[in-house]
Amino acid sequence: MAKHMVKCFYCGEMFDASTTPFIKPNSRRYAHKTCAQTAEENKTQEEKDKQLLENYIKKLFGINCISPKIKKQIETFRKDNNYSYTGMYKTLKYFFEIKGNSIEKANGGIGIVPFVYDEAYTYWRALWEARERNERVDVEKFILPVREVHIEPPQRQPMKHIRKLFTFLNEEEAHEE
Ligand SMILES: [Zn+2]
Repeated sequence: MAKHMVKCFYCGEMFDASTTPFIKPNSRRYAHKTCAQTAEENKTQEEKDKQLLENYIKKLFGINCISPKIKKQIETFRKDNNYSYTGMYKTLKYFFEIKGNSIEKANGGIGIVPFVYDEAYTYWRALWEARERNERVDVEKFILPVREVHIEPPQRQPMKHIRKLFTFLNEEEAHEE
């Protein structure tokens, strides 16, 4: 069969469409089937995360639909601050539920998020680390009762990892339920 070299829409690599499974994301472009599947999964996860955040905000403010003001804030924080949807969710949960701040002060918006994001991150991270430690200790006890348990000191995470960690924390919580 004649070679049909095309460029993947997602990863940008050249591949032979006559021998490699592909899909067409639009009429002109080709993509690895695997790349397309990954993109689809990621998109679905983002959408799920966004839904979780929006549902939480609705419950928090006692509203039926997200106001244009909040919608704009979410999009701005997502794009300009690179906050994840789960990170925003966790931040609001921390500020209003854990810290018990009054919803009246929110002024019908979520403008508080950038001011509390780092603090919320520290809180959820400490919680996650404590849980990790407990799990590790339990496992070590079970396998090697006499061995000393070494706990690595927590490592400082640069800012760019926050998004990932928030997502991870959220998954951790989901596992427990
Ligand atoms: Zn690809």
